This record gives sequence, structure tokens and C-alpha cells, in this order.
Amino acid sequence: MQIGFIGLGNMGAPMAANLAKAGHQVTGFDTAGVSVDGVTQAQSATEAVSGADAVITMLPNGDILRAVANQIIPTMQQGAVLIDCSTVDVDSARAVAEQAIAAHLLSVDAPVSGGIGGASAGTLTFMAGGTSDAFAKAAPLFDIMGQKAVHCGEAGAGQAAKICNNMILGVTMIATCEAFALADKLGLDRQKMFDVVSTSSGYSWTMNAYCPAPGVGPTSPADNGYQPGFAAELMLKDLRLSQQAAKSADADTPMGQAATALYQQFVETEGGLGQDFSAMLPRFEKRSRE
Ligand code: NAD
Repeated sequence: MQIGFIGLGNMGAPMAANLAKAGHQVTGFDTAGVSVDGVTQAQSATEAVSGADAVITMLPNGDILRAVANQIIPTMQQGAVLIDCSTVDVDSARAVAEQAIAAHLLSVDAPVSGGIGGASAGTLTFMAGGTSDAFAKAAPLFDIMGQKAVHCGEAGAGQAAKICNNMILGVTMIATCEAFALADKLGLDRQKMFDVVSTSSGYSWTMNAYCPAPGVGPTSPADNGYQPGFAAELMLKDLRLSQQAAKSADADTPMGQAATALYQQFVETEGGLGQDFSAMLPRFEKRSRE
């Protein structure tokens, strides 16, 4: 396939490289002028998408996605598929899909989980929203860049799945960290806490697979000075998107709201910027009740 790839940052560059390695003709564009091995560098977004069968975007947010979509949709060839892999708000995902479909294109919102490691290794998980035809056209590319792709429903369903998952993740990480900090103050050994909770009803991915306590459980960013991993500010971005969606859909999400406020405080005023999102544990450790 001929593929246009827009947004060659931490995630986009290795994803584009994997597509090129698999034998596709990839032309990339990034406003930062990034070049990627095996990927032809275009001078503009419209140049990158010209003649492409598939166009992939991997951009920072919904406003930038909308701006890029306005540029490229009119120049994409009919029947081509536009695959947005960025994490953006559901409303932007749906608006871009509508615009693409009106221009006789196929459209998929397909945010990912798996982070930079998964992007390099080609082991991302894709959560996709769009028609069956659009998903079918994108699926072979998901197979190269990832290990799993779930077709979640119509346009916007991929973003919906992503932010619901990450709202659970943020809330659960906070619950796990505050429980460790309480256990400390109760004199409970952290290893014993892990042994019990990881095999009891309090278990979770944050406890069992990504334990925020150094030296306990499997190796995680806690064992590496809380270097990300998944940075606290990216968790804050996703929590904010969950609250934006909750507002727009009139859903009551008190735990998501509380988690958003806590990560905001942590990132903006408590030195959490640039730390892994599990660094909530040392944050709680230092605090008392009031
Ligand atoms: P990044 O900031 O490293 O990359 C974004 C790239 O887009 C940058 O290189 C930037 O120069 C480029 N860009 C910005 N505006 C542009 C424009 N108008 N035209 C062309 N290029 C433009 O971010 P990232 O970590 O690669 O994340 C990309 C997306 O993936 C985000 O939506 C993020 O939320 C999501 N995501 C990231 C991770 C992660 O671990 N980094 C995990 C899952 C999802």
C-alpha cells in the first residue's frame, strides 16, 4: 500500500518505521521536520497524502487533528482510508469521520495502548471506531503496528473505549497508591500487602502488573526512579478527555472527576510533571490527612 503518515513523534515515528519495514511505501510529514528510516519525507501534509491508499495521523490533540484533517481530506483520493491513531476527544473524532465520509473516504478512529515500547516493538493494541469496510481496510496495517485490534463500533467508539479504560486506570492507580500509603502508616510490610492484595479482591492491573511500590511485584517504573513509563501528564490528558466526554454525554463520573483533580494538582503544582503516573505513591507517602 501507499501510506501517508502525519505526526512522526515518539509514537508515530516507530509506527511509520514498522510499516516501511513491512514493505509498504510510506511518506511521512511532521511540522518538526522529523525524518524516519525507510520513510520518504514530505514537505507538507498534503504532499504526504497525495495518491495514498491509507493515511495515518498520530497527533497531540483534537484541535490539531481537526486542522490537519481540513488540509488533507480534500486532497485524499476517493476510497482511501483515514486512520487517526491519536488520543483525542470523542467529538473531534466524530467530526473528522463525518468530514471524511462526506468526501467519499473511509474513516477509522483507532487510538492505541502500549506506549512507546509497544510502538517500537509493533505490539500496540488498537481500539477502533468506524464502519466495517473502513475497519477491514485498516486491519492489515493494525496487524503490522500492533498485536491486537478491537472493532468497538461506529465512529468515536475507539476513543470512547480508550478514555473509559484510562479513566479506570487513573482511578485504580490512585486507589492502589493511597492504600499502600495507608498500609505504611499502619505498619504493614509492603511485600505482605502485595502478597495479599494481588491475590485478593483488591487486585488490579496497577497492583499486579505495574506495582507502584519499588522492589515489590514485577519490575515497573517504580524500580527505575519513577521515570515513565506512562507519564503523569499523559494520564492527566486522558482523564481530562474522559471528563470532557462525560460532560458532553451528561454522565456522572465522580471518581473520574476526583482523579482528574488529583493528577492536575500533582502535575501542575507538586512536581509530578515528567514522572511516571505511579509516582502518586511517593506523593501520598509524604502527606498526612490534612
Ligand atoms: P509527540 O508529541 O511525541 O508527537 C506528536 C508529533 O506531532 C510531534 O512530532 C509534532 O511535531 C507533530 N505535529 C504537531 N502538529 C502537527 C501538524 N499540524 N502536522 C504534522 N505534525 C504535527 O506525541 P506522542 O507521544 O507521539 O503521542 C501522539 C499521540 O498518541 C497523542 O495523542 C498521545 O496522547 C497518544 N498516545 C501516546 C502514548 C505515549 O506513551 N506517548 C501512548 C498512547 C497514546
